[in-house]
Amino acid sequence: MRKLLCPACCEVAIGPSDEVVCKACGEKMIAIDGSLLAVVPDRPGGLADFLAQLAEKKINVTALRVVGRCEGDARVLFSTDQSDEALQIPGVQYATAGKILPDLAVLE
Ligand SMILES: [Zn+2]
Repeated sequence: MRKLLCPACCEVAIGPSDEVVCKACGEKMIAIDGSLLAVVPDRPGGLADFLAQLAEKKINVTALRVVGRCEGDARVLFSTDQSDEALQIPGVQYATAGKILPDLAVLE
């Protein structure tokens, strides 16, 4: 079973694969096992600045999706083979962190 997140409404579920469809809105859910979550400024260039930080540390991103926006911040779910290095960047933590995505605490 994998931990899944709906990128549209942030509904969470546990399912057999990432082919599962969100019960709330019908969007295809994405697997978040091992994914990281970053909080970036919700403004033009906010994500670019974050990606520049990753580039500086030579961290390659293998998947990325904006999963939520609130109070001037955007929440970005991403994957990399260099999680340990990425976790050194302020605002980056594992996607299961209940502090950033309260709904995901259910899965911990
Ligand atoms: Zn949904």
